[in-house]
Amino acid sequence: MACSDVAAQLEETHAQIRRCVRCRLSRSRTHAVPGEGNPSADIMFVGEGPGQEEDREGRPFVGPAGQLLTQLLKRIGIDRSDVFITNVVKCRPPGNRDPQADEIEACNDYLLTQIALIEPKVICPLGRFAAQTLIDPKLSISREHGKSRRVSGIVYVPLYHPAAALHQPGLIDALEADIRSLRAVLDRELGKDA
Ligand code: URA
Repeated sequence: MACSDVAAQLEETHAQIRRCVRCRLSRSRTHAVPGEGNPSADIMFVGEGPGQEEDREGRPFVGPAGQLLTQLLKRIGIDRSDVFITNVVKCRPPGNRDPQADEIEACNDYLLTQIALIEPKVICPLGRFAAQTLIDPKLSISREHGKSRRVSGIVYVPLYHPAAALHQPGLIDALEADIRSLRAVLDRELGKDA
């Protein structure tokens, strides 16, 4: 699909998300947070759900967790504007509680539409919820973080959630190491490793 068509269809999906009332999260949100970034990104990051700052601004990963992610990407030569960043649920769970199964289910086809339009080569679910939603409902993030697997032509690399890494200092080195190894995964997918 031509680039401009993808951008237009993505914008239409994002407009639908902004007026979505499919689940209870729509009643407590300030802004829905569809996601943002390059509509033809090679790599996509998928978090759990918007936090307080994201709900206020309507943009994903703009709080401290997002700043950490942006910094770690910069270290491997990736600018935030080159990637696409979104969440499993597009509206903030009140008080940052975990998203519930029916909320994830209600939002899931927005995420699938984003993936189908963007056609990323690599998807990094951030944290347990995103990894379980996108890869395997039984996945253990502490066992599987940083390990890549190919499913239907897309390479999935689950990572610790940057917010978890901020709160549990033991995880930050693992997150940084996994993001460093992403460079090679991406180069291989782009055929740049020869
Ligand atoms: N945490 C998430 O999972 N998503 C955001 O957008 C921000 C924090």
